Order: sequence, then C-alpha cells, then structure tokens
Amino acid sequence: MKKCSKCSGKLKTVGFFRTKGWECTKCKGTFVKYRYLSYQELLADKLDKVAGQCKNSKLKCLECGTTMKLLQLGKIGLELDFCPNDYNIWFDFKEPQRFMKWFDKNAPKGWKNSDEPSTTAVMAAIYFSGS
Ligand SMILES: [Zn+2]
Ligand SMILES: [Zn+2]
Repeated sequence: MKKCSKCSGKLKTVGFFRTKGWECTKCKGTFVKYRYLSYQELLADKLDKVAGQCKNSKLKCLECGTTMKLLQLGKIGLELDFCPNDYNIWFDFKEPQRFMKWFDKNAPKGWKNSDEPSTTAVMAAIYFSGS
C-alpha cells in the first residue's frame, strides 16, 4: 500500500469495525477498500449517481490513484471522500465515529442489524442526507 494521500504518512493495516482498513500512522485517517464493505451494490449505485455533483477531494485513491470525490452530506453535517472509479473510501480521524454517532441516533429500524456497522452507517448517511 502507498503512503497516505493526505499527509504522506506510513500506512498500517488495522481492524476497522468488522472489516479491515489502512490507517495512517501520522494523521490517523483510514482508507477502506470497497471490496471489504457490505452493501456493495447499493453503495456503488448511489455513489455513481452522486459523483457528478461532487467536488474533487484533495485526496487520491490509494489503490488506483484516481482523484477522490467529496460527498457533502449537508443535512447531517458529515462528508465522505470516495473514489469514483472503485468506490474505496477515506475516513479522516474520528470520522467513522461521527458517522456511527449519527447513525445510532437516527437510523431507522431494519438498518441496525448489519454485519459491518461502519458501512451501514455510511450507507444510511448517504440515503438520508437526500443527495
Ligand atoms: Zn495521513
Ligand atoms: Zn480508486
């Protein structure tokens, strides 16, 4: 895995909720690969639909080098960096926790029993932000 696209720090493999991610040892952001996430089809479909309206992120995908997109989830005060090419996701430090916190308070029934809580939180955030 390459160096962190945000700060050039070294990356290490970490447990990320029930899947794995690559955490930057310097800025503590985490890169999560799409293929390890739940809800893959739903997520890809949704991200395809919103990609055209998203600004470019400052980050590049650590897997394919594509400039990531920044999805503003304005209604819920969160944002998500994702790769429009392969749907990998970057979380800044503490961002997954912010998604989870929002999710714990706001997720409707049926969303909570998931294999992979961080993905579920992200999915729910994308759906309910209305974008
Ligand atoms: Zn970093
Ligand atoms: Zn990519």
